[in-house]
Amino acid sequence: MFVIKYVVMKKIIVVGNGMVGYKFCEKFVSHNQNSGFKITIFGEEPRPAYDRVHLSEFFENGDAKALEMAPRSWYEDHGIELITGERITDIHRSSKKITTTKDLHYKYDYLVLATGSAPFVPNIAGIEKKGVFVYRTIEDLEGILAYAQKIKEHRSDTVKAAILGGGLLGLEAAKAVKDMGLEPHVVEFAPKLMPRQLDTRGSKVLQEKIESLGIHVHLSKATNKVLGDDVITGMEFGEYDKIDVEMLVVSAGIRPRDELAKTCSLKMGVRGGIVVNGKMQTTDPRIYAIGEVALLNNMIYGLVAPGYDMAEVAVNQILGNTDVVMNDDIDMSTKLKLIGVDVASYGEPFMPVEKGYSIIYENKTKNLYKRINISHDGKKLLGGILIGDATDYNMFHQIYLNSLPIPKDAEELIIGARGEGGSTFGSVMDIPDVAQICSCESVTKGAICCAITEGDCNNLADVISKTKATTGCGGCKPMVVDLVNETLKSLGKEVRETVCEHFGFNRQELYDLIKINKVKDYNEALNLFGEGHGCEICKPVMASIFASITMETANRQVSIQDTNDRFLANIQRNGTYSVVPRVPGGEITPDKLIALGETAKKYDLYTKITGGQRIDLFGAQLHELPLIWKDLIDAGFESGHAYGKALRTVKSCVGSTWCRYGMHESVTFAIEIENRYKGLRSPHKLKGGVSGCIRECAEARGKDFGLIAVEGGWNLYICGNGGATPKHAVLFAEKLDDATCIKYLDRFLMYYIRTAGPLVRTAPWLEKLDGGIEYLKKVIIEDALGIADELESEMQGLVNKYECEWKQAIEDPNMSKRFRHFVNSEDTDDNLVFVPMRDQKKPKAWI
Ligand SMILES: Cc1cc2nc3c(=O)[nH]c(=O)nc-3n(C[C@H](O)[C@H](O)[C@H](O)COP(=O)(O)OP(=O)(O)OC[C@H]3O[C@@H](n4cnc5c(N)ncnc54)[C@H](O)[C@@H]3O)c2cc1C
Ligand code: SF4
Repeated sequence: MFVIKYVVMKKIIVVGNGMVGYKFCEKFVSHNQNSGFKITIFGEEPRPAYDRVHLSEFFENGDAKALEMAPRSWYEDHGIELITGERITDIHRSSKKITTTKDLHYKYDYLVLATGSAPFVPNIAGIEKKGVFVYRTIEDLEGILAYAQKIKEHRSDTVKAAILGGGLLGLEAAKAVKDMGLEPHVVEFAPKLMPRQLDTRGSKVLQEKIESLGIHVHLSKATNKVLGDDVITGMEFGEYDKIDVEMLVVSAGIRPRDELAKTCSLKMGVRGGIVVNGKMQTTDPRIYAIGEVALLNNMIYGLVAPGYDMAEVAVNQILGNTDVVMNDDIDMSTKLKLIGVDVASYGEPFMPVEKGYSIIYENKTKNLYKRINISHDGKKLLGGILIGDATDYNMFHQIYLNSLPIPKDAEELIIGARGEGGSTFGSVMDIPDVAQICSCESVTKGAICCAITEGDCNNLADVISKTKATTGCGGCKPMVVDLVNETLKSLGKEVRETVCEHFGFNRQELYDLIKINKVKDYNEALNLFGEGHGCEICKPVMASIFASITMETANRQVSIQDTNDRFLANIQRNGTYSVVPRVPGGEITPDKLIALGETAKKYDLYTKITGGQRIDLFGAQLHELPLIWKDLIDAGFESGHAYGKALRTVKSCVGSTWCRYGMHESVTFAIEIENRYKGLRSPHKLKGGVSGCIRECAEARGKDFGLIAVEGGWNLYICGNGGATPKHAVLFAEKLDDATCIKYLDRFLMYYIRTAGPLVRTAPWLEKLDGGIEYLKKVIIEDALGIADELESEMQGLVNKYECEWKQAIEDPNMSKRFRHFVNSEDTDDNLVFVPMRDQKKPKAWI
C-alpha cells in the first residue's frame, strides 16, 4: 500500500530586497538545505538587491550590475521567488496576508520586514525645488549625475553644489560631487564634522584634510530656506548669510521605513522604527523586523553589520534555534570610505571621565590625530579615533572587541615604543581564534586560518569565497590579508604577492596580461582579470601600468589616478599645490627665469630651488593651476612630472662647457637624456644625474641612473637613490659612447618598468633580483634573454608618444573638464592664511 505524504511548505515573505533582506535569504539557504519553507521576497526597487555600502562606486563605472548582491538566477537556483518593482502596501495580521501595489494578496506563515530606511529630508522651505536630491538608491545617483551634467554644460565658471549633512554619508557624497566636477560645499548644523563619531579636535583635523581636497565646509549652519523659483539657486542660513548653489544633496540622516507597521498596529518607537526583541520579533511573534527598520534597544543601527546579525538571528529563530539571539553589545565602529582621507572611530570614541582616561597624539604638520580611551586600571582599550592614518584601525578594533591586553604604557599603542609615532603590536596571529575579524559576515580569526590549515583554501580569494570575510563594508580587508599571508607562511606555503585582493596577480603579471591582451582601460582589466570593484591600491598601480605600456597621460582614466596625478600638481600641507616645470639638465635661459619669476609674482607664489635643479612654485590654489600652466607653457615650459611616479630630473654639473676639470659635456648629455625619458611613468619615481668628471658634482651615484665622464667615454651607474635609505648606484658598464649609454638605459629602464613591484625603487628592485647586478648585465648588455631589441623598440615607442600633460589638460575640453570650473573663477579659498617669511610667504602654522 502506498502512503501519499503531503509536505506542507511554510511560507516566508520577506518585504524589502535590500542588503539585509537579501542576506536573510542567503543565510536561510546556507542553514537550511532541505527546506520545508518557501521564501518570496518583494523589492520595491526595479532591480535585485545591490551593495548600497559601495553605492558611490556607481559614479565611477555606471555599472549597476557590478553592485548586485546576487543575480536573479541565484534566487531561482535556490527556489526563492523574487518579485521586484512591487511594493507591499498592507499587512493583515488576522488573516496573515499582505497586499501589494498591484492589489495582489499573498499569505505568509512568517513575515520578515526588511524595509530599511529612507533619507531624512528636513522640512525646509523650498526643499522640493528642482536640483535637490537624496543619496540612497541607484536611481538617486542617476538623477544626480544627469543633473550635474546639465548644469555644467557650456560653463567655464565654478558650478557649486551643497551637501546638507557633514556625517559619514555626507562626506562621501561631497567627494562624489567633487569628482563630478562641481565645487562641493558641506553644510552641517553641528559645530563639527562627523559629530557622532569624532571629538572636536579630531573633527578639526578631519576638516583640514577635507578642505585640502577642495571640499568647502560650513559648520553651525541651520538652513532656513532653499532659494530659487522652480529650481534651486542657493541656500539661506540667516538674513545675510547665504550661499549660491545650483544643486543640493540632502544627507541629513535616515528615517526607518516603518509605514507598514502602522497598517497593522505593530509597536513602534516614539521617533519611528519597528520595536523588536532580542529574537528580532516584533510585537507579533510571526512578524520579524531586521535591518535599518528595526528598533532594537531603542536604537536604529544605520550600519550593515548589525543588520546582517539581525538576519542571522531571524533565520535561526524561524528554523527553531531559539537560543540564538542578538548580542547586547552592538559594535558601531566605522571607517570612512573617502579616497585620500583616513578616518576611523571604534568602541566608545568619546568616553565619560568616570570610565577611564584618554591619551591623544596629534601631529599638526602631518595632519595626524589619534585618540585612545583606556580603562582606569590601564588594562583595556575602550575605544578611540584615528585620523590621517588609520592603518592600525583593524588591530585597535580587535583589541577593543576582544579585550586583548595592551602595553603597560598604553601610549605606546599610538606613539610607538620609541616615541616615533608608530605602533607596537605583536603579530596578527596573537589575536585569539574566537576574535571576530569580519563583523559584517561574523567571521572569526579561527575560521579564516582554518580555511587554509584545515580546508582547501590556498590564497586570499579562496578564503574570501569560502568565508565571505571582507564582502560587507570591507573594513577588515587589511587584517584578513595579513592573516591569510601569515597562515600560509606558517605552513611553508608560497605567499603570492598579488597587487591586492581584487587581482590575483603581481604587477609584472598584470603588466604582461594588459599588454598581450591589448586591454584598453581599468574596467576592462577588472572584468578580465580581477574581481570586485577595485580599491585605492590597485587603481593607481593599474594607471601606472597603462601609462608605461601606452604612454597615456594622467588626463586619461582620471578616476584611478593618485591624488597628485589627478591634479597634475603636488598637494601641500595647507591644501594648496606646488607647481614644478621641467628644466632639462638644470639649464635655463634668463628669459625663462624671468618668466618663472613673473608667474610667481602674478599668482603670489613662494619660490624655492629644488635639489633636482628646478624651481618649485608653492601656494597655488586648485582653480589657479590651469592658469599658471598656461603662462608657463606660453613661456616654453612643460610639466616637470614632480607629482608622478615618473622620470623627475636628470641633474648635471656644468661639465666641460665651463668647468676646467670637465671631460665631457655633461649638460648637453643630461638634457638629451631628460628630454628622451620625460613623461616616462614607472613603478616609482626615477632620477638621473650626469657628472663631467669623477669629482661627481651632479651626485650621479645617488640616482637611479648616473653617468660619470671618464677618459674614453661614460661610466654608467645604476640603482642608487638618496632619501630615507640612501644607496650608492653600482657600476654597470664603463667607457661607453653616447649611443651605447642610451641603448643600455633604454633596456635597463624598460626592464625595470616591466618587472618591478608597485612603488619599488630601482635599488630594492636590484636587491631582490635573482642573480643581482651580474644577472642584470647579462640581460641588458649580453642580451641573454633575447629581449634587448624589444625593450629598445618599446622605449622608442613611448618616447615617440610623449605629450605634455599640462598642455593636454588645458587644451582638450574633455580632459580639462575636471579643471574647467576653476578656470576664470574669481573665487579664492577664504580659509587659506599665509604669513610673511623672508620677503616671501608661508602657510600660517596651526594653532
Ligand atoms: C551611500 C551609502 C553608503 C553607505 N556606507 C556604509 C558603510 O560604509 N558601512 C555601513 O555599515 N553601512 C553603510 N551604509 C548603510 C547601509 O547601506 C545600510 O545599513 C544597509 O543598506 C541597510 O540594509 P537594509 O536592508 O536594512 O535597508 P536597504 O538596503 O535600504 O533595503 C531596504 C529595501 O526595502 C525596500 N522597501 C521598503 N519598503 C518596501 C515595501 N513596502 N515593499 C517592498 N519593498 C520595500 C526598499 O526599496 C529597499 O530596496 C551606507 C548607505 C548608503 C546609502
Ligand atoms: S663633476 Fe667635474 S666637471 Fe662636473 S663640475 Fe664637478 S669638477 Fe667640474
